[in-house]
Amino acid sequence: MKIGVLALQGAVSEHIKALKASGADAQAVKHSSELEDLDGLVLPGGESTTMRRLMDETGLYDSLRLFAENKPIFGTCAGLILMAKKIEGRNGPHLGLLDIDVRRNAFGRQVDSFEATLNIRHVGDNFDGVFIRAPYIKSVGSGVEVLATYDDHIVACRQGRFLTCAFHPELTGDTRLHRYFVGIVEENR
Ligand code: GLN
Repeated sequence: MKIGVLALQGAVSEHIKALKASGADAQAVKHSSELEDLDGLVLPGGESTTMRRLMDETGLYDSLRLFAENKPIFGTCAGLILMAKKIEGRNGPHLGLLDIDVRRNAFGRQVDSFEATLNIRHVGDNFDGVFIRAPYIKSVGSGVEVLATYDDHIVACRQGRFLTCAFHPELTGDTRLHRYFVGIVEENR
């Protein structure tokens, strides 16, 4: 099984390491052609507007929309924003894959980043969530399963083959969320 990590910007090598530790083969993706033999994809954290611009410039935008038609995708932080169907204050989505409504930089300027202990449904308890200028999910559609909340805000969810979280699971040694995604990819094959 081979899972790609979109490598236009952001925390790429950490995701590759976590995926390999979770039993998958993993590789960085910079060009559309590299999507061809992949069974799943991670959209990492970074800056969603920058990643979108780079997607448009490289032609990856259209390839990613096609890839998403039958392959699992796991978006973390900025990746979550890229997957959302609705982004507060923005006219239209980026990839628009998940029936969620998100708010960017949602935890305020005062607290740029913080850690919180999370209990994640189907994944496990006491997960160390690292939030960096993180978004949260304001609301989800009926087909979306909420997996974790922090301070009454939704910070992880799943809709079929799409998984997402507002924090950075690749920055701790805990690979449980990556393992859960590898399981989704396995199911989908
Ligand atoms: N604030 C970033 C954005 O809006 C996301 C931050 C992150 O990925 N750590 O895209």
